[in-house]
Amino acid sequence: MSRFATLRLDKVSRSFGRHAALRELELEITGGEFVALLGPSGCGKSTALNCLAGLLPLTGGAIRIDGERIDQLAPERRGFGMVFQNYALFPHLTVHGNVAFGLKMAKVAKAEMVRRADRALEMVQLTEHAHKRPGQLSGGQQQRVAIARAIVLEPRLVLMDEPLSNLDAALRLEMRTEIRRLHQSLGLTTVYVTHDQEEALSLADRLVVMRDGIMQQVGTPEEVYGQPANRYVAGFMGYRNMLDVTVTAAQDGDRLVLRLADTPLTGLGRDALVAGGRGVAAIRPEDLDVADEDTTGAVSAAIEVVEYHGRELAVQARLSDGQPVHFRTGSRLAPGDRVWLAAAAERVLVFDGRDGNDGQNTQAAPDNPGAAASPDPAQRKSVIS
Ligand code: ATP
Repeated sequence: MSRFATLRLDKVSRSFGRHAALRELELEITGGEFVALLGPSGCGKSTALNCLAGLLPLTGGAIRIDGERIDQLAPERRGFGMVFQNYALFPHLTVHGNVAFGLKMAKVAKAEMVRRADRALEMVQLTEHAHKRPGQLSGGQQQRVAIARAIVLEPRLVLMDEPLSNLDAALRLEMRTEIRRLHQSLGLTTVYVTHDQEEALSLADRLVVMRDGIMQQVGTPEEVYGQPANRYVAGFMGYRNMLDVTVTAAQDGDRLVLRLADTPLTGLGRDALVAGGRGVAAIRPEDLDVADEDTTGAVSAAIEVVEYHGRELAVQARLSDGQPVHFRTGSRLAPGDRVWLAAAAERVLVFDGRDGNDGQNTQAAPDNPGAAASPDPAQRKSVIS
């Protein structure tokens, strides 16, 4: 089946009884793109993928490829390849037999079938295991077979549902690179479901962040990481500190002067906020730096918990107003110490304080310093307490 220019999801909805698992999802995917659907368990990402695959009928909306409706087509008539979490390989067939199976069903001539299966196994670096059975392979190798089986058919869309979640941490990293490499060399349009923000950031051209069946933000990894659309997305993308602040003044552009634990600081307004209003300042632990004691406006925090993370420490401290704060540091610190903390104004994102969705209660993402851009030390610092 030929490749496409655009795949459109038009108000795609799916309910289970009265529960709306997916609500009016609007998304346009360009041919060749790698799109990740990201969100915590239960947010509706697998539902969205299964609707795309044709495994779940829609309860509203439409899916179109280059203008033509496909949501009423049976799964096998959509020309999509699927890779699941649990591999779903045939245990009695060899690795080569598993990969060639779809070609056999499609009645591809024998010589062509062998050539294409060989090529797919080469791409996932499994040539030497071609004659083994799946049970003789490691989890990572089995997942490679599953990927080879999907790509051998040259599908116009590859759908992947948490394909790496059964692998250990080291294999996950290796397979992530492998998937990225395959995408770069084959250019297959891919929709990839994950709850792991680091995986989504590193693999995808665009991320779709979901919550309770509703799309929260769609954008490049840089956009979603650096400019989260709301508190929920910020929380999910590693802005672990959600600190209650008061807005004291609005400056030029989106700059706001805030008060946190009786200390003024500057941040960027992400919602429409007015002086006197309550806000929530979202700050990543890795964007909070230990400052000198005599830095103007610096307010101390008392260290409570220190975790050793190799090159740095992950620290939990408490501000003078009782709010907990998390930061990372290369300095040697211990519980009971006092520090002064500062963050660049550009790294302090201020959301509306009345919104109950601060992302902290619902986020599954760990505090993840290595996920993407690190703070630019050249950026202006504003002192926070
Ligand atoms: P996970 O990462 O845990 O798979 P998810 O984000 O993929 O989560 P979905 O599987 O899409 O979430 O589920 C979305 C919501 O729909 C959940 O509240 C789930 O309980 C509900 N749901 C999913 N499938 C069914 C079903 N067959 N019957 C009833 N409810 C369902």
